[in-house]
Amino acid sequence: NNFSNLRTFNIDASSLPNVKRNKFYVVIDPGHGGIDAGAIGIRGLRETDVVLDVSKTVQRLLSKKGVNVRLTRKGEIDLDLSPRVTIANRTGADIFVSIHANASRGKKKDINGLETFYYSGWRGKLLAEKIQQEIIRVSPGSPDRGVRSGRYFVIRKTNMPAVLVEIGFVTGKLDARRLEKPLHRKRVAYAIAKGILKYLQRVG
Ligand code: ZN
Repeated sequence: NNFSNLRTFNIDASSLPNVKRNKFYVVIDPGHGGIDAGAIGIRGLRETDVVLDVSKTVQRLLSKKGVNVRLTRKGEIDLDLSPRVTIANRTGADIFVSIHANASRGKKKDINGLETFYYSGWRGKLLAEKIQQEIIRVSPGSPDRGVRSGRYFVIRKTNMPAVLVEIGFVTGKLDARRLEKPLHRKRVAYAIAKGILKYLQRVG
């Protein structure tokens, strides 16, 4: 239940790794939005709602650590892929993190798991590894689908280390049951923030 989760897991920013304040600028990109709800899962769970909620918590946590954060969207607006990239490229972001949830073909309930994509370069790969390590930790029993190179537009066209995180399958029985819960979303956000901060500690 929620009480035991809260006892064993601290979602407070004070327990996150520290980085030099006001040094880093991160763009967080909640996938989809507006008319494009993204994947639709079990019990009508919508990717756009899950990833916006998680992204806002990532922003809040990183801000408390003195990291400047910009979201590519703050609400349910329809936003193409190229403006997401432009925001990051024009404003000189240090890193770009796009947050998504998965759907399996045929909406198979037994397919669950988390994965993180980068496009190229050791920095992107390292950022993906740091985030993947942490999101797996808060998703016990859900398969680790690993860190992979992918050709998604938003990570291919951005000119800073960039990753696309898939935080679980809205169509998967195990993942959907978690992703619909506000507490789990907070834990995933905490994990993503922790991965980002660990990366910045190492590379920044
Ligand atoms: Zn998506």
